[in-house]
Amino acid sequence: MSATKKVLLVTGGGRGIGAAICRLAAKAGYRVAVNYATNQSAADALVAEIAAAGGEALAVKGDVGVEADVVAMFEAVDRAYGRLDALVNNAGVVDVKARVDEMSVARLERMMRINVIGPMLCAREAVKRMSSSHGGRGGAIVNISSAASAHGSPGEYVDYAASKGAIDTFTLGLAREVATEGVRVNAVRPGIIGTEIHASGGQPDRVERMKDMLPMKRAGTSDEVAHAVLYLLSDDASYTTGAILNVSGGR
Ligand code: NAP
Repeated sequence: MSATKKVLLVTGGGRGIGAAICRLAAKAGYRVAVNYATNQSAADALVAEIAAAGGEALAVKGDVGVEADVVAMFEAVDRAYGRLDALVNNAGVVDVKARVDEMSVARLERMMRINVIGPMLCAREAVKRMSSSHGGRGGAIVNISSAASAHGSPGEYVDYAASKGAIDTFTLGLAREVATEGVRVNAVRPGIIGTEIHASGGQPDRVERMKDMLPMKRAGTSDEVAHAVLYLLSDDASYTTGAILNVSGGR
């Protein structure tokens, strides 16, 4: 193990877009902490795949919406790798299709807890480790937002869209707050990407149904999102902070 290799934590890294980010980051030389909430087998399989390809990775369990889990997750990374250089706030959920006048408080609280409070808690822990004001060597955070923050997702999940709107604003504010402390903070707004998230919201056919309405007449891939994230994490983006990059095929 090389102690000089940069360390990246990806929340929700076991599947979908997060897994593509982990794979590409490991290939780029990061040691990768792969967070998962429940699907341990997906995270373990990804860690094994990265190791087989010569990379270093670690699966870390934790619900980003639970403060004690977040703290424990960052401590596990401290113990394993002894440093943290980058965070991707990728974990996120949708819910079943509903109008606002049908939404329960339980639904709204789950959505905001996982999609908004979770990334904020993770960013808090990352800043404590990376900011020069805390003795850190600097670093980068990328928040995964959604094109939904600009469209609002009416009749589908306005709560989800609003949670991503909060992420956009959080990105702008945190970027400026830590701009002189060696930490860059950016967001990526994916459009419709072919992952299991659509089935988890009760719409397994969502990509197929919507693809002809998209400017490129196709959904994006997790790899296409991952490349944008890796750029924003890299030193090539050294003057880029507070940016919100649409990776949405023109949507
Ligand atoms: P996905 O395939 O459904 O995967 C979701 C990931 O998030 C899984 O790894 C899951 O962990 C993890 N997760 C869920 N709740 C969690 C929690 N409370 N704590 C920790 N991890 C949790 O989703 P995806 O499509 O890759 O989406 C990734 C991100 O991109 C999300 O923020 C989503 O909003 C955003 N996004 C997706 C699309 C799209 O079309 N796919 C478009 C725009 C934005 P387990 O494996 O343990 O379940």
